[in-house]
Amino acid sequence: MTQYQTGDLAKCCNVSIRTIQYYDKKGLLASTKNEENGRRRFDAKSKQDLEIILMLKRFGFRLKDIKKLLAENNKLKTVRSMIEQSALDIEQEIYKNQILLSEMKQFNKFIGKESKAPLNKLLETKQYVTNNDNLNTLTRSIIYQVLPVALIQYTALVTSLITKKWLPCLIVLPFMIAFAINLTHLTYKRLIYVCPNCQEVIKPNIMAWLLASHTPKTRKLQCPHCHETSHCMAIDKRMKLTKSSKQM
Ligand SMILES: [Zn+2]
Repeated sequence: MTQYQTGDLAKCCNVSIRTIQYYDKKGLLASTKNEENGRRRFDAKSKQDLEIILMLKRFGFRLKDIKKLLAENNKLKTVRSMIEQSALDIEQEIYKNQILLSEMKQFNKFIGKESKAPLNKLLETKQYVTNNDNLNTLTRSIIYQVLPVALIQYTALVTSLITKKWLPCLIVLPFMIAFAINLTHLTYKRLIYVCPNCQEVIKPNIMAWLLASHTPKTRKLQCPHCHETSHCMAIDKRMKLTKSSKQM
């Protein structure tokens, strides 16, 4: 019958000698002692048990549960229900980590790579991150306002193309322009920006705001406090004021 010394078994199963010794001490593996040299020896059954232990450890099982499984020679259906529970725990952990990762990425959007702001600004950044969720609500409300107007515009254009008369387009055009100007002005009034370099809040003048290159949530602006030009994150002015007044 094949016999393994501790080092051979460790090599065979790609684990450390210390791990084998620990499992042996905890009674998870059966071994015999060589009386001549005092070394432990393991048989093929112990090797098989070790392979099972390592597999179940990977699934997140606790050693005391694995020991019970091995001792009672349980059927696979017991392992199945334990895997189910362990998989559920892993899914919950992944979910929690995804939320944490998303939050951390949000923080980094507000903090520039070369930020010179002191550590205590992190608390303000937390407020901006929270506020950023509210900004999504503002963006959605803008989309809901624009959609019906875009539909009217599209209908007028199609009608003009089918009838080959430009009157529907001409009637709608002034209202479209007025709507666009009004919406732009309302958006400008609602938004303020956070400088990622010094964490100060910026309210650019309307011309600088209009001409700045931008994404849906950032605008490239020059900060009046640190004078750096960077992509500043937008926050909802109304939401921020509500938070500040609560803190006072
Ligand atoms: Zn700045």
